Amino acid sequence: MAFAITQNCCNDASCLSVCPVNCIHPTPDEPDFGHTESLYIDPRTCIDCGACADACPVDAITRVSRLPADQAIYAEINADYYRDRPVVAEWATPKFPPAAINTMPRFDVAIVGTGPAACYAAQALLRVPSSRITFYDRLRVPGGLARFGVAPDHTGTRRIGEHFRSMFTHPRVTMKLGVDVGVDVSHATLSERHDYVVYAVGADTDRRLDIPGIDLPGSMSARTLVGWYTGHPDVPADAIDLTGVRRVTIIGNGNVALDAARILTADPEDLVGTDISPHALAALRASTVSEVVIAARRGPEHAAFTRSECQALVTRRGVEVAVSGPEGTKQSIEELPMSAPASALQNAAVVDLNDNDVVPALGSARRIVFGFGRAPIGVSGGQRVDGVEFEDGTVVASDLVLLAIGYRGRPSPGLPFDTAKGAIRNVGGRIVDDNDARVPGRYVVGWAKRGATGGIGDNKVDSEETVEALLEDIADAPPSERRRLGRVKLRSGR
Ligand code: NAP
Repeated sequence: MAFAITQNCCNDASCLSVCPVNCIHPTPDEPDFGHTESLYIDPRTCIDCGACADACPVDAITRVSRLPADQAIYAEINADYYRDRPVVAEWATPKFPPAAINTMPRFDVAIVGTGPAACYAAQALLRVPSSRITFYDRLRVPGGLARFGVAPDHTGTRRIGEHFRSMFTHPRVTMKLGVDVGVDVSHATLSERHDYVVYAVGADTDRRLDIPGIDLPGSMSARTLVGWYTGHPDVPADAIDLTGVRRVTIIGNGNVALDAARILTADPEDLVGTDISPHALAALRASTVSEVVIAARRGPEHAAFTRSECQALVTRRGVEVAVSGPEGTKQSIEELPMSAPASALQNAAVVDLNDNDVVPALGSARRIVFGFGRAPIGVSGGQRVDGVEFEDGTVVASDLVLLAIGYRGRPSPGLPFDTAKGAIRNVGGRIVDDNDARVPGRYVVGWAKRGATGGIGDNKVDSEETVEALLEDIADAPPSERRRLGRVKLRSGR
């Protein structure tokens, strides 16, 4: 009887390094790594030792025989990953750090940001005994998206924040909170103060959707809702007004949309004792929301959400999940392989979104409708939104519209920016200028490096790649030498 990896998997691969028989895949050196929504345990080779379950930072690994009913499908999902794959129980030749970490000169690194990517970078840097780190954050509380991005009911995932917090009190770490780098202190000054700077600034703006009515009151970014329920200091308690709201339409069907839909339809009593903000809990207790429509412009085969997040919605009690879309949508869902995220919707009822009666017809208190093939062309309303118009002629009456079409980084004067990606220009984590020449001493991790894709654990391997580059550079040019060279270049405007 093997173990299985379940819904919470954060992909940070902590489990891989402790497995004695290499039964967890994909490993970071396999092409699938970073492209699957979770890691999977091969039941053919698992020896049932449980080491992975002990190492998992988010409690996502369980003995198959102990899977609760709503997670039982994960035994099948893990086994399914290996259906056409050979048994790989051998470990690849181990890779050792490129530099001799015990003989490195003392160096200090500024990490701008305190979210997951910043913490994984710090974790990798602190393995070098001569490293010193100073974290900068514009907020007065550290944690970034681990604190203000992960939904409060994802208690397992939020637990990783506790692990990150140990980084902030490490004896070789200094915290500078309430300092907005680029505003309170320039990038050039930071580079003068520290040997190296690692930017972990995330993606703090939204992709734009330029359709008529998008800026009407009652239409806003899902980021506002997320900040509202996690208690982000920038989001006031009255930023979301659910008074009289019966139907919410969310544009986009990534995991941010699913988080928003799940919280808006949750039984508020299930959120008591979580990290939800008190104002959001009070508003949800008084909420009249009966339906959330998640509108995707493409079909079910292109769903942006992960299977595990969708699975968690369909197995929840008290909320119906339905689908809607052009003819053939249901059949497309039925034909999807198990690994496809929307295959979790195979038992969902089909409803007609043109029917604007928002009281769910399925006998439950609340309903979530996954709308497919709904490209938005306008938001209607006078003083406030009253509906969303789609290219196929559908108009979905809506009292609140949330835009969940993805995030982008914000250009900061003095830092090269890749406009297409919405991220800082870099090669493998080394920041490069517009001519692809390296900017000495500056590095980037996380969403600011690769664009706004991937969950918390995806940052581990990504941050380690950047730190590996930084350590290689230290070996090539010791810190004092580098700082002298870097200063010359920065002063000459690069
Ligand atoms: P996302 O996964 O990139 O999804 C964006 C959605 O917006 C897609 O459905 C996309 O549709 C749609 N979209 C983009 N441009 C559009 C347009 N012009 N008109 C209509 N629809 C448009 O973004 P996200 O939900 O913000 O998530 C960002 C990352 O954070 C993801 O990697 C996500 O998995 C991760 N995350 C994970 C969790 C979790 O694990 N629980 C929670 C939150 C976020 P197309 O596919 O057609 O482009």
